[in-house]
Amino acid sequence: MTYNGKFSEPAPVPPTYDFFPNLNGVVTVENCYYYLAFLERFWTFMDTMSLQEQRHYLARAEVRYEKWIHNHFSPMLVPPLDIAFMWHVHKLSPFRCYEDLVLRLPCKKLFDDPLPLYDLFKNEDLTPNDLKRWKQTFGDDEPYCLTSQNMYSGTYQRPCYRCQQMIELPWPNYYDYRFGANHTRFPHSCVPDDGINFWDVARMKIESDLTNGLVAGTLLNPDGTEKVTPNKMVAKVKPIQVIVPQNEMDRAYERQIQEQLRFLGSDYEYDANELLYAIRTSYQGNPSPFSIDLIQAVARQRKFYFDIMSIHWQRPISYIAAVRRYHDHLALIKKHPNVKAIPTLEIDVAFHTHMMHSRTYRNFTLTQLEKVINHDDDIPESSIKEHLREWQTVWSNQNLRHPSIEHRYRFTVSLFLYIK
Ligand SMILES: [Zn+2]
Repeated sequence: MTYNGKFSEPAPVPPTYDFFPNLNGVVTVENCYYYLAFLERFWTFMDTMSLQEQRHYLARAEVRYEKWIHNHFSPMLVPPLDIAFMWHVHKLSPFRCYEDLVLRLPCKKLFDDPLPLYDLFKNEDLTPNDLKRWKQTFGDDEPYCLTSQNMYSGTYQRPCYRCQQMIELPWPNYYDYRFGANHTRFPHSCVPDDGINFWDVARMKIESDLTNGLVAGTLLNPDGTEKVTPNKMVAKVKPIQVIVPQNEMDRAYERQIQEQLRFLGSDYEYDANELLYAIRTSYQGNPSPFSIDLIQAVARQRKFYFDIMSIHWQRPISYIAAVRRYHDHLALIKKHPNVKAIPTLEIDVAFHTHMMHSRTYRNFTLTQLEKVINHDDDIPESSIKEHLREWQTVWSNQNLRHPSIEHRYRFTVSLFLYIK
């Protein structure tokens, strides 16, 4: 599919090889440009569908992304647009993405692979051989390009978190379950008397994770490194089989955890709070295997896209500025670790581009900043103003060494963090 948008031309070309700034080998003018082109391509396609169709498309995309992570090819095919976008929003949560892809599901190689921004920009048809590989892996019922025409064909299939038997539903039924429009129980082998709905599926997801000790949201330290000692509360909590009312999973666990805390004492308090927060944010109402609701995460990116498109992206100067200011942003985070850093839109574009290279991003921030910088696009409007004021003060107090953005500057890792 071709599209004519603001970002359909090739990326800006530097007048000399090393003229453009380059941070960590991946935060480049080209990659920032291709990242914007990717957003534009996705949302332009979404706009061809009704709101209802968009929701169905995303629900199927989420399921397809799960299949993709367990069946990534070597060499990798260019992911279809819907899967690429799900992968992208997963990457925008560096902590949860690491937990899911490296520790919980796991499919470490996919964490190491960057989103192929240039290949997605080129958007070439699959070769007959690659299409054959796709069909062999995903079956004839799973089209490579998902469209509003083919997204109702075939059936939803996913193994049960508890018994591993396949849960199979017509897609329109699944879409209603996924968006909470239907809670009717349907027959399923491990609950033969009552059957299950998707509240049960979410309940069995936490049951399975509590049993194997891999509860999303409890596996990393605040600096993003893996915990050596697991959350102590996870081993104490018993999976709850019957939750009434069904949609209050967090309250049911909260009651049990508070009961346990009375005996376990304050040593367990931190872990108890961490576990409860994890249940609320990663499990409550989320039947997907992921630790974040990727569909909601896509919805949050809609606003980002709208804001990004309202800026005039001047070639190449706006991209150069984005890379530079992102560099400065990281340098200031290092210097002021206790101030909440609020990126501007152009810095955020470079930041997103960096995170599309999850492994590189993780290694870089751990090495340079001694912690993985999490990306929080969900800060409440009420507190953002105060954070912003504080962060702007930090910026204006710095004597940054680029008086003009035309100034030629080439970043390398060794030059990083020149602010002492
Ligand atoms: Zn089952």
